[in-house]
Amino acid sequence: MKTVVFSENPVFLRMASAVAQSLGGEVIGISNNADVKVVNKLYVIDKLDEDGIVDLIASLSPDVIITGNVRRDRAIAGRIAGRLKLPIVTDVISFKLEGKKIVADRVAYSGMGVVTVEGELPIVITIANTQLQPKELQPSVEKVQLKEGRVKVVSRKSTSSGSNLSTAQIVVGVGRGIGSKENVKYAEELANALGGVVGGSRPVAAELNWVPEDRQIGLSGLRIRPKLYIALGISGQPQHIAGIRDSKIIVAVNTDKNAPILENADYLVVADAVAFCKAMLNKLGKQ
Ligand SMILES: Cc1cc2nc3c(=O)[nH]c(=O)nc-3n(C[C@H](O)[C@H](O)[C@H](O)COP(=O)(O)OP(=O)(O)OC[C@H]3O[C@@H](n4cnc5c(N)ncnc54)[C@H](O)[C@@H]3O)c2cc1C
Repeated sequence: MKTVVFSENPVFLRMASAVAQSLGGEVIGISNNADVKVVNKLYVIDKLDEDGIVDLIASLSPDVIITGNVRRDRAIAGRIAGRLKLPIVTDVISFKLEGKKIVADRVAYSGMGVVTVEGELPIVITIANTQLQPKELQPSVEKVQLKEGRVKVVSRKSTSSGSNLSTAQIVVGVGRGIGSKENVKYAEELANALGGVVGGSRPVAAELNWVPEDRQIGLSGLRIRPKLYIALGISGQPQHIAGIRDSKIIVAVNTDKNAPILENADYLVVADAVAFCKAMLNKLGKQ
């Protein structure tokens, strides 16, 4: 059994490696970080070039390819499945090997259900979550210079916050209930005071542009797993919940005491989102 794992996100790389280790056999990691110590063999790549990564995975002829669930991971999973004409199962939360077959549980209907599917090896999997922890290993390391792909990075600039929403421990999520783009500054002040970052629901990020588009949390945005998620004026539709389900504590602030987010929140504060931010900032001595 040869399993190749890739994720550009260290949390997902550990998850993918934990699942790969549980299958037995050789676990080969691909990362631009030389410090990965959860695989048997590590290819340290010089750039995160999708063409190059897909070429490298294809050249290894793996039985199983496991990626994480962030945007580039999913793109690479789709491309390698297309290139090698392999079956792909996405959003997997657990799977086991039965002979030459994988039996996988994957989330469905924005996380409201779980579907069990089967697929023949070789196969591509994207991991949404796992409780498994990887064993620490001492990999043999090989540096690889990927050839320049068809898509070249011409310049880079940081997003407005520059921080990583996927790995943040505290996230303040902004929904339509915050009322206006101007009011988002209160969420930003609260996030700063708590050492967290701001994200948003799809209408706020992708339609109203109250927060940058790459801050969208949910089914078609980022899946986050902070210790604390504060949802300000977010109704809690399944597509949003799909992105916050793995948060440790969810605090919802909503003027509607029956808002659907109640079903998933640990605490509901019935209040105006801006008034809540001001009160919190006051308590934290920031106002
Ligand atoms: C294929 C598909 C994919 C999608 N992907 C995503 C996704 O990735 N992420 C995502 O978020 N959505 C996604 N959506 C959209 C999703 O269905 C919801 O429309 C969206 O999450 C609602 O955003 P919201 O909670 O900000 O707004 P609303 O649903 O309008 O909720 C606003 C909330 O604010 C409350 N409120 C009003 N005033 C105040 C106030 N002053 N203070 C406090 N609370 C107040 C209201 O009671 C309400 O609960 C997707 C939809 C589809 C069809």
